[in-house]
Parts: sequence; structure tokens; C-alpha cells
Amino acid sequence: MHLDREAIVRLDKQYVWHPYTAMRRYIDEVDPLVIDRAEGARLYDVDGKSYLDGNSSWWVSTLGHNHPRLVEALRRQASKLCHTSLAGVTHEPAAALAEALVAVAPRPLSRVFYSDNGSTANEVAIKLSLQYFRNVGQPARKRFVALEGAFHGETMGVTSLCGVEVFRRPFAGAVMECLFVPPPPAGEAHTAGHEVAFGALAEVLEQGRGEIAAVVLEPLVQGSIGMRMYDPELLRRARALCDAHDVLLVIDEVFTGYGRAGGMWACASAGVTPDIMTVGKGFTGGVLPMAATLTTDRIFDAFLPPENTFYYGHSFCGNPLGAAIAREVLAVFEEEQLLAQAAPKMARIAQAFSDLGQIPGVSNARALGMIGALDLRPGAGYLGDLGWRAYAEARRLGAYLRPLGDVVYIAPPLTIPDDDLTELLDIVRRSVQFALGAA
Ligand SMILES: *Cc1c(COP(=O)(O)O)cnc(C)c1O
Repeated sequence: MHLDREAIVRLDKQYVWHPYTAMRRYIDEVDPLVIDRAEGARLYDVDGKSYLDGNSSWWVSTLGHNHPRLVEALRRQASKLCHTSLAGVTHEPAAALAEALVAVAPRPLSRVFYSDNGSTANEVAIKLSLQYFRNVGQPARKRFVALEGAFHGETMGVTSLCGVEVFRRPFAGAVMECLFVPPPPAGEAHTAGHEVAFGALAEVLEQGRGEIAAVVLEPLVQGSIGMRMYDPELLRRARALCDAHDVLLVIDEVFTGYGRAGGMWACASAGVTPDIMTVGKGFTGGVLPMAATLTTDRIFDAFLPPENTFYYGHSFCGNPLGAAIAREVLAVFEEEQLLAQAAPKMARIAQAFSDLGQIPGVSNARALGMIGALDLRPGAGYLGDLGWRAYAEARRLGAYLRPLGDVVYIAPPLTIPDDDLTELLDIVRRSVQFALGAA
């Protein structure tokens, strides 16, 4: 069966409930992109028109679409073993991937727990933290500290840590109470606001003495709230404070890991090692849903006595297809020297966004690693509409530039060809000018 564009959209609008989408407006007004295939940094719709993938399809396809080595790894693994449980069973992909992951992870992370996606990786982190303290005789440690504007995923546990007001509101009252602290202000300069932020974290940990299990942070950049970048000093302070108070530090590298924020791991770039680190998104280079939670021997050992067992595990834990691909992703990073290859692209993004910052009406132009972002109307937040005007223009010009409210940003694949990056940056400039001119 081969459906034409119209038929696909008709079925879609009749049956599919889209994520993060106001469905009335979608059904009545939106003419969706209907993607047929993708390659490298480009998506192709059913009419053959190409769109530069400005955000690596929700930050996932970090090695570009259909990377030949990943497709081949999938094909090879699929011909042998697609699935088995990881319960009393093991297999080469899961075992070899864990070794490869620990080899590149910040020391002393040494154990890998597999799950399906970024949310579950963080859910594992939360449950591990709670049970760890129970196992070591400190069951009163049940609270979590997160940043205002934090996003760690969709499950109820991590919704507790959600500092994006519109995402959290429907579930308020049903989720755990979390302690939120402000991130340091954006920008390079060290201001009084930095001391306020560091002081707030110190105070929360002091006041919650004996009751806090973990501090959970998106390192260096808070993605979902709108690419808010912050001073790495916060991570170092958090590490020192967690050590002083015997609190765990959980670092969520679901977005920032795998080179997105410049280095392999954003926390390592800041010189900080967490007690628990979560990875997802780029983990399989966008081929299959899979994620992992890494932790230390200290935490692992507290679960060794049978009565301390971690009773947790997803059906697709350690899935052989995902694991084979995730292992190939690490091999590609090493053999193709992806971070070194991407360095000049990162420099170009930084320069381009610095230039975009000169456009009247643009504020807070910023860049970090393979991320560039700017605000069209500061403070409009997630529900602003100027970003969507830029989106519409970018789409017309051949790029997928889904905004975060009035934050226009790019997070392209690390492997985006130079010519494609030139074109993407040009489309961003024209779309931003269009959005502001038409405002
Ligand atoms: C996307 C994201 C998640 C959730 O990952 P899913 O795979 O969508 O469940 C968690 N944390 C951060 C920082 C993210 O950006």
C-alpha cells in the first residue's frame, strides 16, 4: 500500500495524537510536514522537497540521518537477534556496550543500567537515589533539588523535577514536591545574581540537611526551557555542596552528551563527575529508542545484599538492536574523531549567532558546542508566537526550525556538511529577520 500526501494527512488528523501539540489548532490549521526519508542533515518530504534538520529531529539524530555505519549495525544485528530480556540472560551487544560506555564516561562511573529513553533513564536515577539511601540506612533522604526551568522528561517521577511551569501545572499536587533553585543568570560576566544562585543552592542543602537524596541538573544548558546556558561554576559548587552534605549529584546528559555541548560530556567539560549520569537521545544516534543510567561502585555496592535488590527493569532493557547501534555510535565517535571534526562547525555557529545578535530585536544570542540560540521577545516564554513565524518562513526556505516559544535555535547533527551548515545559518538569519519585520 502506498498512500499519497493527502491520505496520510487525513489518517493522521483522524487518528494520531501528536506530542506537545495543541490538537484543535493542529487539526484545523496545521499543514504538517510529511516526511518520507532522510539522509545526513536533511529530511525529505513526500514531494521530494528537502528540509535541513535544524534540531536533529528533537536533538536525537546527532550523527545525521541514516548514518551508513549505524544502518549497517542495525541490519547485522537484526539478522541475528532482535530481542531477548536481560533477566538472567546477557548478550554481546549489551555487555560490550557497557564496557565501551564506561571507558568514555567520567571516572568513577563504572556500572550501566539500561532503559528505553531519556525520561526512563532519569526515572532510574531518581529511584536509585531513593533506594540507595534506604539501603544505607538513611531512609529520610527523600527529597530532590532541581533548577527552576529544569526538564528531565515525561514520567511522573521526573515530572516532579520539572521546572517548566506549563508542563508541570496539570500534574501539580500529584507529583513529589521538589526544591527548586534559580540557575545563575545567563551571560559570561560574573554578577551578583551568580552569588544569589550559588547561595540559594547552599541554603537549600543546609536547610534540607538529612532529607535530601539528590541534586539533579541539566549540565551547562537547560534545553527545553529555551536553551538557557549557565556558568559551569554552578556544577562545581553543586559537586562540592553534595560532597559536604552526603547528597548524590545526578547529571542529566540526555541532551548535552555525545558532543552536543562541545565536549563528549558537559559535566566533564566543567570538571565535574556525577554520582549518577543519564544518557539518551544521541545514545543511538537517532536510530532506536534506548538510554542508560551510569553510576559508581559506591552506589552499586549498596544494592548487592539480596534484600537491597533494585526491583526495576523495562521490557526492552538492553535491547540487542539498540545496544549494537549504541556501540557503533561510540566507535564512530572514536574512529571518525567526531568531536574534532565538529570543532570548526561549533566555531561557525558561535560566530553566526554572535552576528545574529546584532539584528535589532534579537536578544541573548548565545552558543555552546553544536547549539546556537537567540530570543525574539525575551520573557514571552514557551507560549510566544514569534518563534513560530520564524518557523514558517524557515520551512518555506527549506529548513525545519521548530522553536521553543520565542527562542529560535539550532542543534544540527555534529556531522552536518559545511555547505548545509552555511545554508542553515543563512535560513536562520532570513527567518529571524522575517519574523521581526512582520511583527
Ligand atoms: C529530552 C530530554 C529528556 C527526556 O528524554 P526522552 O527520550 O524524550 O524521554 C530528559 N532530559 C533532558 C535534558 C532532555 O533534553
